[in-house]
Amino acid sequence: MIKQKCCPECGAKLTLKELEHEGLIPYCENCKEYRFPMFNTAVSMICKYQDAVLLIKQYHKPFYILVAGYLNLGEGLEDAVKREIKEEINLIPSKITFNTSKYYPASNTLMCNFILEFDDISSLKLNYEIDSYKWFKENEVLDNIKPDSLAKWFYLEYLKK
Ligand SMILES: [Zn+2]
Repeated sequence: MIKQKCCPECGAKLTLKELEHEGLIPYCENCKEYRFPMFNTAVSMICKYQDAVLLIKQYHKPFYILVAGYLNLGEGLEDAVKREIKEEINLIPSKITFNTSKYYPASNTLMCNFILEFDDISSLKLNYEIDSYKWFKENEVLDNIKPDSLAKWFYLEYLKK
Protein backbone atom coordinates (compact mmCIF):
# COMPACT_ATOMS: atom_id res chain seq x y z
CA MET A 1 0.00 0.00 0.00
CA ILE A 2 1.25 3.48 -0.88
CA LYS A 3 0.97 5.90 2.05
CA GLN A 4 0.91 9.65 2.30
CA LYS A 5 3.66 10.68 4.75
CA CYS A 6 2.88 14.29 5.62
CA CYS A 7 -0.20 16.41 6.25
CA PRO A 8 -0.98 18.35 3.06
CA GLU A 9 -2.17 21.35 5.15
CA CYS A 10 0.52 21.78 7.82
CA GLY A 11 3.29 19.37 6.78
CA ALA A 12 3.30 17.45 10.08
CA LYS A 13 4.06 13.74 9.98
CA LEU A 14 0.87 11.70 9.72
CA THR A 15 0.03 8.90 12.11
CA LEU A 16 -2.65 6.25 11.69
CA LYS A 17 -5.86 6.49 13.70
CA GLU A 18 -8.91 4.27 13.81
CA LEU A 19 -11.94 5.75 12.06
CA GLU A 20 -15.26 4.03 12.60
CA HIS A 21 -16.21 1.77 9.66
CA GLU A 22 -13.07 2.82 7.76
CA GLY A 23 -10.20 1.22 9.70
CA LEU A 24 -6.82 2.88 10.15
CA ILE A 25 -6.72 6.23 8.37
CA PRO A 26 -3.81 8.72 8.17
CA TYR A 27 -4.33 11.36 10.84
CA CYS A 28 -2.72 14.72 11.56
CA GLU A 29 -2.22 15.26 15.32
CA ASN A 30 -1.56 18.95 14.69
CA CYS A 31 -4.74 19.71 12.66
CA LYS A 32 -6.76 17.04 14.51
CA GLU A 33 -8.05 15.88 11.12
CA TYR A 34 -8.09 12.66 9.17
CA ARG A 35 -6.19 13.03 5.93
CA PHE A 36 -7.51 10.81 3.20
CA PRO A 37 -4.99 10.14 0.41
CA MET A 38 -4.38 12.99 -1.98
CA PHE A 39 -3.27 12.44 -5.54
CA ASN A 40 -3.33 14.11 -8.93
CA THR A 41 -5.92 13.19 -11.51
CA ALA A 42 -5.29 13.23 -15.23
CA VAL A 43 -7.10 12.15 -18.36
CA SER A 44 -5.66 10.47 -21.42
CA MET A 45 -7.48 9.97 -24.68
CA ILE A 46 -7.57 7.34 -27.41
CA CYS A 47 -8.75 9.54 -30.29
CA LYS A 48 -10.44 7.69 -33.15
CA TYR A 49 -11.37 8.90 -36.59
CA GLN A 50 -12.83 6.21 -38.86
CA ASP A 51 -10.31 3.34 -38.57
CA ALA A 52 -7.42 5.51 -37.43
CA VAL A 53 -6.02 6.40 -34.00
CA LEU A 54 -4.19 9.60 -33.18
CA LEU A 55 -0.76 9.41 -31.57
CA ILE A 56 1.35 12.44 -30.73
CA LYS A 57 4.96 13.30 -29.98
CA GLN A 58 5.63 15.74 -27.17
CA TYR A 59 8.46 17.54 -25.34
CA HIS A 60 11.01 16.60 -28.05
CA LYS A 61 10.75 12.92 -27.14
CA PRO A 62 11.14 10.41 -29.98
CA PHE A 63 8.14 8.19 -29.14
CA TYR A 64 4.43 8.34 -29.79
CA ILE A 65 1.97 8.63 -26.90
CA LEU A 66 -1.68 9.53 -26.31
CA VAL A 67 -2.97 13.05 -25.77
CA ALA A 68 -3.26 13.61 -22.01
CA GLY A 69 -3.53 16.32 -19.39
CA TYR A 70 -4.17 17.07 -15.72
CA LEU A 71 -7.53 18.01 -14.29
CA ASN A 72 -8.13 21.51 -13.02
CA LEU A 73 -9.52 21.84 -9.50
CA GLY A 74 -13.31 21.60 -9.63
CA GLU A 75 -13.42 19.96 -13.05
CA GLY A 76 -15.18 16.69 -13.91
CA LEU A 77 -13.39 14.02 -15.93
CA GLU A 78 -15.46 14.60 -19.08
CA ASP A 79 -14.98 18.38 -18.76
CA ALA A 80 -11.22 17.85 -18.62
CA VAL A 81 -11.34 15.55 -21.65
CA LYS A 82 -13.21 18.15 -23.73
CA ARG A 83 -11.01 21.03 -22.57
CA GLU A 84 -7.72 19.22 -23.16
CA ILE A 85 -8.74 18.04 -26.61
CA LYS A 86 -9.87 21.52 -27.59
CA GLU A 87 -6.68 23.10 -26.21
CA GLU A 88 -4.19 20.59 -27.55
CA ILE A 89 -5.59 19.61 -30.96
CA ASN A 90 -8.55 21.98 -31.46
CA LEU A 91 -11.15 19.23 -32.00
CA ILE A 92 -14.57 18.49 -30.52
CA PRO A 93 -15.35 14.79 -29.98
CA SER A 94 -18.73 13.43 -31.07
CA LYS A 95 -18.59 10.61 -28.52
CA ILE A 96 -16.72 10.10 -25.23
CA THR A 97 -16.57 6.65 -23.60
CA PHE A 98 -14.70 5.68 -20.44
CA ASN A 99 -12.07 3.00 -21.04
CA THR A 100 -10.17 2.28 -17.80
CA SER A 101 -7.93 3.89 -15.19
CA LYS A 102 -4.57 3.21 -13.56
CA TYR A 103 -2.58 4.79 -10.76
CA TYR A 104 0.85 6.04 -11.85
CA PRO A 105 3.14 6.17 -8.77
CA ALA A 106 5.97 8.21 -10.35
CA SER A 107 3.77 11.32 -10.42
CA ASN A 108 1.19 10.26 -7.79
CA THR A 109 -1.48 10.46 -10.48
CA LEU A 110 -4.67 8.57 -11.16
CA MET A 111 -4.77 8.36 -14.96
CA CYS A 112 -8.27 7.98 -16.41
CA ASN A 113 -8.44 6.87 -20.01
CA PHE A 114 -11.24 7.66 -22.44
CA ILE A 115 -12.07 6.65 -25.99
CA LEU A 116 -13.02 9.61 -28.17
CA GLU A 117 -14.64 9.47 -31.57
CA PHE A 118 -14.59 12.29 -34.09
CA ASP A 119 -16.84 12.89 -37.08
CA ASP A 120 -14.83 15.80 -38.38
CA ILE A 121 -11.10 16.45 -38.00
CA SER A 122 -10.79 19.31 -40.48
CA SER A 123 -10.12 21.87 -37.72
CA LEU A 124 -7.21 19.86 -36.23
CA LYS A 125 -4.49 22.23 -35.09
CA LEU A 126 -1.70 21.46 -32.63
CA ASN A 127 -0.88 23.77 -29.77
CA TYR A 128 2.66 24.51 -28.63
CA GLU A 129 2.74 21.51 -26.25
CA ILE A 130 2.69 18.99 -29.09
CA ASP A 131 5.58 18.52 -31.54
CA SER A 132 3.84 16.35 -34.12
CA TYR A 133 1.02 13.88 -34.65
CA LYS A 134 0.10 10.99 -36.88
CA TRP A 135 -3.06 9.00 -37.52
CA PHE A 136 -2.23 5.29 -37.35
CA LYS A 137 -4.37 2.42 -38.59
CA GLU A 138 -5.65 0.44 -35.61
CA ASN A 139 -3.32 -2.46 -36.42
CA GLU A 140 -0.27 -0.15 -36.53
CA VAL A 141 -0.77 1.43 -33.11
CA LEU A 142 0.97 -1.21 -30.98
CA ASP A 143 4.09 -1.10 -33.14
CA ASN A 144 4.35 2.67 -32.81
CA ILE A 145 3.13 3.61 -29.34
CA LYS A 146 5.81 3.99 -26.63
CA PRO A 147 6.80 0.52 -25.33
CA ASP A 148 6.10 -0.22 -21.63
CA SER A 149 4.05 2.96 -21.30
CA LEU A 150 0.75 3.64 -19.64
CA ALA A 151 -0.50 4.73 -23.07
CA LYS A 152 0.24 1.27 -24.45
CA TRP A 153 -1.40 -0.40 -21.46
CA PHE A 154 -4.55 1.68 -21.99
CA TYR A 155 -4.60 0.78 -25.66
CA LEU A 156 -4.25 -2.94 -24.87
CA GLU A 157 -7.17 -2.66 -22.43
CA TYR A 158 -9.21 -0.94 -25.13
CA LEU A 159 -8.46 -3.80 -27.58
CA LYS A 160 -9.89 -6.33 -25.09
CA LYS A 161 -13.34 -4.70 -25.31
ZN1 LIG B 1 -1.88 18.98 9.63
